[in-house]
Amino acid sequence: MATETAPQQFTFQAEISQLLHLLSHSLYQNREIAIRELVSNASDALDKFRHVSLTQKEHEDDAALRISIEPDAENRLLTIRDNGIGMTHDELIQNLGTIAHSGSLEYLKKLGENSKDEVSLIGQFGVGFYSSFMLADRVEVLSRSYQEDTGWKWESDGSGQFTIEPAEGLERGTQVRLHLKADLKEFTEPVRLKHILTEYSTFVPYAIHLGDEHVNDQPPIWVEPKSQVTEEQYKNFYGYLSKRTYEEPLWHLHLTSDSPFQFHAVLFCPTSNFELLGFGKDEHGLSLCAKRILVQSNCRELLPEYLRFIYGLVDSADLPLNVSRQALQDDTVFRKIRKVLVKKVFSHLEDIAKDSPDDYGKFYEQFGSTLREGVASDFENRNTLAKLLRFRSSHGEDRAAVISLDDYVSRIPDGQKQIFYVGGETIANIEKNPNLEAFRSRNLEVLYLIDPVDEFVLNHVNKFEDRDLVSIDSSDVDLPELHSSGDSEDTDTAKEEKSGPPAGFGTVLNLFRESLGDKVEDVRESKRLTSSACCLVNPEGSMSAQLQKVLSRASDEFHLTKRILEVNPAHPLVKHLASLSTNDEHTAFIKTCGQQFFANAMLAEGVVPDPYETAERMLGFMEELAQQRSPIAGG
Ligand code: ADP
Repeated sequence: MATETAPQQFTFQAEISQLLHLLSHSLYQNREIAIRELVSNASDALDKFRHVSLTQKEHEDDAALRISIEPDAENRLLTIRDNGIGMTHDELIQNLGTIAHSGSLEYLKKLGENSKDEVSLIGQFGVGFYSSFMLADRVEVLSRSYQEDTGWKWESDGSGQFTIEPAEGLERGTQVRLHLKADLKEFTEPVRLKHILTEYSTFVPYAIHLGDEHVNDQPPIWVEPKSQVTEEQYKNFYGYLSKRTYEEPLWHLHLTSDSPFQFHAVLFCPTSNFELLGFGKDEHGLSLCAKRILVQSNCRELLPEYLRFIYGLVDSADLPLNVSRQALQDDTVFRKIRKVLVKKVFSHLEDIAKDSPDDYGKFYEQFGSTLREGVASDFENRNTLAKLLRFRSSHGEDRAAVISLDDYVSRIPDGQKQIFYVGGETIANIEKNPNLEAFRSRNLEVLYLIDPVDEFVLNHVNKFEDRDLVSIDSSDVDLPELHSSGDSEDTDTAKEEKSGPPAGFGTVLNLFRESLGDKVEDVRESKRLTSSACCLVNPEGSMSAQLQKVLSRASDEFHLTKRILEVNPAHPLVKHLASLSTNDEHTAFIKTCGQQFFANAMLAEGVVPDPYETAERMLGFMEELAQQRSPIAGG
């Protein structure tokens, strides 16, 4: 490696310096995952080279692609070598000097403080290479890219800087040379290394050699008959695909088919959903193989986007090799495989929901949000997906999200034509919604939607088993007749409803209408209220109040639809106002009451009416009441 040029000095991106500090000082449990990360990088580099050699004639190469692990106890040195794609001078700077994903460091810092053992997550965030510094106090990376004749040496002691200089006589590929820390000589012991490699790297699709031994010569489990694969093997395979060696998969699906086309697949559902932790979309795709050889490692097109949380591998002898991504997607067999996978995932979820609702609950808690996306985006499977949704409901025992639309429909009483739902911020808020009264008195089930996304979703579902899904504050609500026979607690009010509104009620509505003017779409008699004085409903066909609230918060452009104020003619105060309305003297007072009715209806929904106006009006009411009182006792 004779060279006249002095090594070039570089400074790590600031985040990397922090990460390196963290790795070498606080995250020291589970150090062996560094080996898994380096082997996994080597395997990726082999994938990339294999692709190049298959698609670019000038890079054709028959030599076996392999990884070797070379311990040197005497020099306390461990080398991980591959004959993959290699890195150029600029790639070394780019790849080993910056962090690809923002946010990764923040997350790792949190891990560093709380749960040290979860450092095995490191590979998820595109910072696997830096875990070398958990083992080594000096790291050399010798690499020659397939595109160049000369190689380079990258070197760093992990303290903020690295150097790069030319290196002679390198084969294509990369060697990562770990100069192990003084107390880590164990990482040169073959027994220890073999143990680590079998635990983490059994399914790497290239031969891994430790000395003369080929340590990963197990058959690929996806082509084995299901009955011969142990849970342990599935778990290991999941760990390999997902790098989540710290958790078991929530479930797995092993599929085999011989006709009309041949394929094997193993799919895994993780236990936890990273997206819920605030990371971006967790789109890792599936591994696609043809006759056991990896064709694409992050094939996202094999499943719809909303099933992106699934890890897995698909192997088919009937797929065309050496075609572009686009050509592959258009391939008939590819499209058919995709269809089968989606169908199998759905039927598996249906089975879990039926046979073990608790397990389904766990799944839904983590991935329900992603399924709901599917309802909005996958028209073809909308109905199947709708059946997989779960809700809270007025009739649910513990108010947990366990009610399916099928459950709801199965207990719909005669005469009910629609499926009702209501949105709100909490169950407690929802239960105070005056609009619910009419449903409660008729004992009609209402789905409770705490998450605004659910309302978008039900808007999309629109109809389920021929029944319209309607928000209870919509004027489209079609309420069955209320039987006064005794299935209602409010039989008195029910009778009142029948007897019709009191005299003067029409005048009250007119005065309210005049006073509220543009603030409302209309003021009218309520057929749904039993005990509250008033409520707001939405004109036919408009969005529910809750949904509008969310949209108006999200965008200034969004204007709330004008609502309809419904007034309960049976309410004592309303009756009183009706009797006052015959005297013109009270017109102004009734009009002011109209304003306050509107403000009250808004407050009941958790919406704040104009605070200044409302406070002034309340003050006026109090003044009037105070004037009727006397400071003299009994006066
Ligand atoms: P990730 O592998 O998740 O992208 P790493 O920090 O482990 O993150 O590696 C950063 C980048 O360095 C890789 O994306 C790859 O481009 C490059 N790299 C790492 N190891 C090798 C290797 N053995 N051969 C070729 N390139 C490599």
